[in-house]
Formats: sequence, structure tokens, C-alpha cells
Amino acid sequence: MKALQYRSPGAAPEVVTVPDPEPGPGQVLLKVTAAGVCHSDIAVMSWPAEQIPFTLPLTLGHEGVGTVAALGAGATGFAIGDPVAVYGPWGCGSCAKCAEGRENYCLRAAELGIRPPGLGAPGAIAEYLLVDSARHLVPLGDLDAVKTVPLTDAGLTPYHAIKRSLPKLLPGSTAVVIGTGGLGHVAVQLLRAMTAARVVALDVSEEKLALARAVGAHETVLSDASAAGAVRELTGGLGAEVVLDFVGAPPTATAAGAMVAVEGDVTIVGLGGGTLPVGFGALPYEATVTAPYWGTRAELIEVLDLARAGAVDVHVETYGMDEAPLAYERLHEGRVDGRAVVLP
Ligand code: NAD
Ligand code: ZN
Ligand code: ZN
Repeated sequence: MKALQYRSPGAAPEVVTVPDPEPGPGQVLLKVTAAGVCHSDIAVMSWPAEQIPFTLPLTLGHEGVGTVAALGAGATGFAIGDPVAVYGPWGCGSCAKCAEGRENYCLRAAELGIRPPGLGAPGAIAEYLLVDSARHLVPLGDLDAVKTVPLTDAGLTPYHAIKRSLPKLLPGSTAVVIGTGGLGHVAVQLLRAMTAARVVALDVSEEKLALARAVGAHETVLSDASAAGAVRELTGGLGAEVVLDFVGAPPTATAAGAMVAVEGDVTIVGLGGGTLPVGFGALPYEATVTAPYWGTRAELIEVLDLARAGAVDVHVETYGMDEAPLAYERLHEGRVDGRAVVLP
């Protein structure tokens, strides 16, 4: 089959032919319908060889949707042909976190060498994807595969970040979304669907701000050195109750700390290497700073239910398998509007 692989440190990914996978005991083989392209892959591909926590070559793609093509011995709960979405942050399934469906924080994944598809295990940008357990599949029903595949990460990750801050997102509150790309433009929609907060979107690109407005942002602000001041002005000097940073670079993390309200939450989702000092006087009183990873199995089901209710409409650009390297190039250059999706 064809697969998009990251083959050597620092090199661009390539479309190659690899053997078709076969499901072992408990595994499920999917015929991939659509696979999303995430900026995290670009971060991973920028790491020096000694920092890469898995072996190369690696088939990319940690957002996947497909139909069940074959069931390994003992795999149950799905039939051949069923359309499914893949829950990506695989865990052991039996530790205390996994028992709660919080496999993104599995206590034993590192020790057991369990890694997500596309981030260690062979990923979804391929004709077939091996899923380690039926537990990691969510029925798609009649949801559109292409528009739904980004929800497995670009939807689930912001959903998880927003859900933990819901008690602060009361009517009259303000939520800021920094970086309205793949994750951010879904975050704007989730905030509108889940809260009565005013949503302020920040980006460095006017096109991305236009997309943010189109998907429901009440206000947009160009993300530059004056952005924190602009958010303070929009909030009568008080700051935003919740700031979600989907860039996570040093300037955006600093700006997030400068625009958050007393008792507000700063959530750094982006992998841009930015940090925020916490200590008396460093931030408004009782402001919290956190950096979450992906989301839980139950939350993926909830996100798909929101999509089924019509609350999220992911903007997608589609690419054929042979164009998959181009999708990464365009994402790297900031030229993807919404989410790039590969149709293998
Ligand atoms: P993306 O490239 O689609 O979107 C990034 C957006 O940020 C773009 O619209 C870009 O114009 C904008 N941007 C860049 N610099 C900016 C700045 N200084 N101020 C404001 N906006 C700026 O990327 P994505 O796939 O949505 O991923 C977003 C980030 O989230 C990446 O760092 C990715 O690695 C990370 N991520 C983290 C998790 C997690 O679990 N923590 C999960 C998925 C993705
Ligand atoms: Zn991702
Ligand atoms: Zn576990």
C-alpha cells in the first residue's frame, strides 16, 4: 500500500510503498477514508535525531477515519464496512487513567512502549491503518468522514481544554483563542456551542482572522505586541477569563499571561516552546497556567455528538495521497485555511 512516511531526521515526508498490514489478535484493520494533517507533525519533524522518541521510518497521520476492513482474532464490537473514527492517544487500557477513558494520560504507556498512530505507531496517512484495539474506535454513523476526521485531534484537543475551564466561561465572560488555524478555528466554534462567553480570536494572518469571524468569533485582534492591551481594552481592563494559546510560542505565552483575568485560566496547547512564570506578582491573582495533551475517549464521543448536532463545521482542504507532502509544505508556510485532510 501507499503510505506517507517521515524517513530520515530533518527530511521532508515521502510517499512510499510498504507491505499491507494484517491485524493480529485484538487488532482492527481500517481502510482509511481520510487522515488529517496536524502542525504537531511539523514540530516532531523538526526535532534533532537524538530527541526523536521512536524509530524511523514512521508513517505519519494521527487523525484517522476509515471503514473496518478486517478484524483480528477476538476483536469484537464492529463489523466489516463500519465507518469509524480513531481515538489516537492510545493507552494500556487498564491503569487507573485508562479505566476512566483518560488514555491520553495513561500511566503505563511510556513503560510499555505504547505510542499513538502517526506519532510512533504507523499512522493514518496510508491506505490501511492498524488500530491496536476496538476500544480506540468510535462509530461515525452518518457523519461526513472528511469533515469529521479533524475532530479526532483538532476538535478533541480544544474540546478537552475548554471543558476543564467551563465553570469560568459564564455569560459575560471572555474567551481568547490565540492562533485560529486547524485547532483554533474549531475552538472558536466549540466555545460558541458550549458557552455564552464572548470569543476573541487572535492570529497573525488576516485570512485566518476572516475565517475566525466566519465561524463565530465576536471580535478579532491581530496578534502582535499590542494584542494583550487590545484584549484588556475589550474587557474593560479586566482581562479574559480563559486564554487558549494554540501557538504556544514565547511571545504568545507572554501575551496570554498579560491578557488573563484574576482567577482566569491560561491553557497552552501549542508546542511553540513558550512558557509562563508563575509566582506572586508574575500573573494576576490566582490565574492558572496549564498545558494539556489531547483528550479522553468520552470527550471524543462528545465532540462527535456536537458535530452530529450541527455545532461544528470544520473547514477542510483536501489532498490526494501523492499531494500529501504538499499539504505539509503548505501547513508549514501557514497557507492552510482550516485543516488539511489527505484522502489516501
Ligand atoms: P495550524 O498551523 O493549523 O494553526 C496555527 C495558527 O497559528 C495559524 O493560523 C497561524 O497563522 C497562527 N499563528 C502563528 N503564529 C502566531 C502568533 N504569533 N500569534 C497568533 N497566531 C499565530 O496548527 P494546528 O495544527 O492547529 O496546531 C496548533 C498548535 O497546537 C501546534 O503547535 C500543534 O503542535 C499543537 N497541538 C497540540 C496538541 C496538544 O495535545 N497539546 C494537539 C494538537 C496540536
Ligand atoms: Zn495533532
Ligand atoms: Zn493506561
